[in-house]
Amino acid sequence: MIEKSFADWQALVTQATPDGRALIDGERVWAVSGQTFADTCPIHGQVLAQVADCGEADVDAAVQAARRSFQAGVWCGLRPVERKAILLRFAALINEHREELALLETLDAGKPIRDTLAVDIPGAAYTVAWYAETVDKVGGEVAPVDPRIVGLVTREPIGVVACVVPWNFPLLMAAWKFAPALAAGNSVILKPSEKSPLTALRVGQLALEAGIPPGVFNVLPGQGAAGRALALHPDVDCIAFTGSNAVGRQIMQAAAQSNLKRVWLELGGKSPNIILPDCPDLDKAAATAAAAIFYNTGQMCTAGSRLLVHRDIREDFIARLVERAGKWLPGNPLDPATRMGPIIDPQQWQRVQGFLAQGRAESRLRLGGDTRLGELGGIYLNPTVFEAEPGHAIAREEIFGPVLAVLAFDTLDEAIALANDSPYGLAAAVWTANLNTAHLAARRLRAGTVWVNCYDEGGDMNFPFGGFRQSGNGRDKSLHALDKYTELKSTLIRLP
Ligand code: NAP
Ligand code: MG
Repeated sequence: MIEKSFADWQALVTQATPDGRALIDGERVWAVSGQTFADTCPIHGQVLAQVADCGEADVDAAVQAARRSFQAGVWCGLRPVERKAILLRFAALINEHREELALLETLDAGKPIRDTLAVDIPGAAYTVAWYAETVDKVGGEVAPVDPRIVGLVTREPIGVVACVVPWNFPLLMAAWKFAPALAAGNSVILKPSEKSPLTALRVGQLALEAGIPPGVFNVLPGQGAAGRALALHPDVDCIAFTGSNAVGRQIMQAAAQSNLKRVWLELGGKSPNIILPDCPDLDKAAATAAAAIFYNTGQMCTAGSRLLVHRDIREDFIARLVERAGKWLPGNPLDPATRMGPIIDPQQWQRVQGFLAQGRAESRLRLGGDTRLGELGGIYLNPTVFEAEPGHAIAREEIFGPVLAVLAFDTLDEAIALANDSPYGLAAAVWTANLNTAHLAARRLRAGTVWVNCYDEGGDMNFPFGGFRQSGNGRDKSLHALDKYTELKSTLIRLP
């Protein structure tokens, strides 16, 4: 396939006509209140679409539709091969609409078109296809018990599942949740971020086209109120969330306050990337360290935002890193050559600016910190590198921007202690040529994913994804994700 040029994509922008209506019970509808909100495009900050601002009444309607479809068994009651076939069709439709969806995602979230085309959209399709394949393969157990008892351990769908997702990988994070939830037979309400609702809405339509019955997959855009109402709703059985720790706490509280719905949280991170002096390839490590923080403009829960470098090689490593950072100068995300796009919106930029100011006050700026391309109207921050001390704000807090804190250490023990000195525990990496050091370090790092001599590998669906400590609970991806969306049932049949 010949990929499109910058000019081709720019020409297509005028043809993109996003539909901001919610999807409830198989119908595209505006919010009951008639309220809408303006969804903007980070490339230039202009309004892209008016989107339904769903609130309590819309959440109620969606929950009722989901509950009805669940009780009627139109989805959970299908034979597994039928459910699988529909999900495979759904995955194929996402792939068929790859360019349309990639353009929409790029316009809505400012992600480079090269990434939405290669990662976000095909990644979402792959996720749906992967879980489709589990439907007729993952079974229950027959327990090895008393011979006079037939002991069955089966998995059943939980019922109505709400998926509340952020804006940094709008469709991919959504797919990591709705795909296993649907595969397990649940009825789903997806709540995309107010900053990036468009691909979720379009994909909801494709789910219908694929044959997922009305009411089984609902998409509710909104600004905060919809998410809150889902978390509080007494008839939502499970809420699966990816987003900030602050909102994660509110969701747990809402669940406790209402019906003790299952709560699964994928939260923030401040992931350490440790370069030991016996790192096998410093150039590769520097290139990877740059990608680990600048990919997706650093708006990554797994961003390698703390670079821990052995003091003996620190200067050499920073020089290599600064050189590699040149490849990440921000640009228009519709240009296929662009690797790093704009910051999502002024609100996020304000947050990042606060950290830049703190960094300038207490740490040593080594690169960037300034913006470019102001004439476009978006916010394009240059790759930014600070040398910091462990107590500095930029070395502790999740920034969610292209801002790296470099810390020095003298011994492996010190590196591990620094790495683990965080309330988060999402990911960590270590670079060493010594197999023993690699294994020993990997064991001691308190994180849901540990990379050795690489970073951000893990597109493969077999790896569970999630965090230790305040990075959350439960896991997305892999067969383990099905645990989130199923109840286990023990059935004991006494024989005469
Ligand atoms: P956010 O502000 O927490 O929002 C996430 C979602 O929650 C949005 O859909 C939001 O809706 C909704 N929401 C807001 N208030 C709510 C409430 N009171 N109850 C229920 N839902 C509510 O996070 P974000 O700024 O979009 O995303 C950035 C964060 O996500 C970062 O902290 C990042 O680390 C984390 N993240 C984690 C992972 C992971 O897998 N661990 C992956 C990606 C991102 P509105 O948009 O309508 O407010
Ligand atoms: Mg947007």
